[in-house]
Amino acid sequence: MPEQRTLLADEAATEGFGQVLARFTRGQGIITLSGDLGTGKTTLSRGLIRACGHQGAVKSPTFTLLEPYQFGTQRVMHFDLYRLEDPEELEFLGFRDYLDDNTLCLIEWPEKALTALPTIDLQLSLTYLENDQRLVSWRAGSDHGETISQALIAHYRP
Ligand code: ADP
Ligand code: MG
Repeated sequence: MPEQRTLLADEAATEGFGQVLARFTRGQGIITLSGDLGTGKTTLSRGLIRACGHQGAVKSPTFTLLEPYQFGTQRVMHFDLYRLEDPEELEFLGFRDYLDDNTLCLIEWPEKALTALPTIDLQLSLTYLENDQRLVSWRAGSDHGETISQALIAHYRP
């Protein structure tokens, strides 16, 4: 499938995209978020994590590399790999343990660990537009990702 995209008019729309995405993931898979600093990767993640039921702040795991969120038996692992020095460090974060049906991995800066990542279900990419708008584009890398992608297309169809 070709790349799909939609416009995010403001910060609320970016959080809203995360909320919508939360529904379609069914709480599992690997979703990466690419894009320059400040394009809204953490903002989108916040929308998703709040939609899963988290009520507190969603801080950027810039220094910890990983922030876990537990919702009963379900969990969301929020990674920010910007400061990862070597892809192999991912193993020290226990990454293999998070690849199960009850875990959704959200990964900012996947470029820092591409050689260590398994199949990415959905690759998101954010870019700046004028007037604080953003463009989000996505590409599926698995059947699960394709299901999510189709649901997003249907949701954001003009
Ligand atoms: P990243 O994680 O990609 O570095 P953040 O989500 O931390 O980016 O920051 C995005 C910044 O841009 C925030 O300060 C937010 O208020 C601002 N912003 C302005 N317009 C938008 C938009 N349309 N979508 C997302 N963030 C926006
Ligand atoms: Mg961020």
